[in-house]
Amino acid sequence: MPRLLVLLLLSTLASHARDLGRPHGLVIHGGAGVIARSTMTPEREAEYRARLAEALNAGYAVLERGGASLEAVTAAINVMEDSPLFNAGKGAVFNADGICELDASIMDGRTQAAGAVAGVHHIKNPINLARDVMLKSPHVMMVGDGAEKFARGLSYELVPNEYFQTDWRREQLKKAQAKEKDGKERTAAIPDDYFTRTLRWGTVGCVALDQAGNLAAGTSTGGMTNKKFGRVGDAPIIGAGTYANNATCAVSATGWGEFFIRVGVARDIAAQMEYKGTALRDAAAATIAKVGRLGGDGGVIALDAAGNYTFEFNSPGMYRAARLSNQPSVVAIYGDEATR
Ligand code: ASP
Repeated sequence: MPRLLVLLLLSTLASHARDLGRPHGLVIHGGAGVIARSTMTPEREAEYRARLAEALNAGYAVLERGGASLEAVTAAINVMEDSPLFNAGKGAVFNADGICELDASIMDGRTQAAGAVAGVHHIKNPINLARDVMLKSPHVMMVGDGAEKFARGLSYELVPNEYFQTDWRREQLKKAQAKEKDGKERTAAIPDDYFTRTLRWGTVGCVALDQAGNLAAGTSTGGMTNKKFGRVGDAPIIGAGTYANNATCAVSATGWGEFFIRVGVARDIAAQMEYKGTALRDAAAATIAKVGRLGGDGGVIALDAAGNYTFEFNSPGMYRAARLSNQPSVVAIYGDEATR
């Protein structure tokens, strides 16, 4: 074999071996909000833990076989979108018109490429369409009918809106609308709004780090119960609900979207790291404190390229889990559960 070829082969093998030794893994959330032991049955709690573990393992399997972080994010989110437990895909909350209206976004930390969809009604896995907006269109964000036309062009099978609808989310809409009729509806400017805090948990998100050292982030949601038709939250907005950059971190958010948009949550965390050299956990805590000062609630998951991660939230609970190659795995729900 020519000497050059041997050298090339050896250097490829060496870099592959280096990659295999790198920390890799993922962190997921299934929404933050008023999640209390008093309103949870042991069966339901077990179901949540099982589904979180399934999503975590689906994403981890991709990373273990050397797959890309983007692919792991999609795989983990698909499991939660397909489960009626979460407010994304099947089981999404209802808007004021009594239908499910879905938002999602994804970002590649290596290239800073991003894709998002908002206000779609017939896309079974909105995170997949967000990924295709990123990979197969010249755009970053597509909404409503146009996004669905784009999906049809890619031979997506569109599902009826009833596919997403579940009885318990319909009950939540009824409660929210009854309260509204009582004249108790508050605007986003008043923080103690009953149903915006209590009837929306279940947005899903994932941040992942692959063996090549690349970060990715994604978020998918039905938004907030009784949201006005056409309302778009933070989840599909790059820099608010989702952000990834190999140089800083990957972030996925969940919470009262109006506040997360106004703070620019995901990018705010990365910006503190970029401009001030702040550590991941401190940056996430400072940003969630800003959300709290404005009157909002919710949380984030964040991961950096060294494999450090954090769950940061100011609500009573957050469905959350993490599996990194160099740390023990965790699955947790309530705010007081130890995760380290
Ligand atoms: N952030 C989502 C939205 O405002 C809702 C949530 O995460 O609970 O649409």
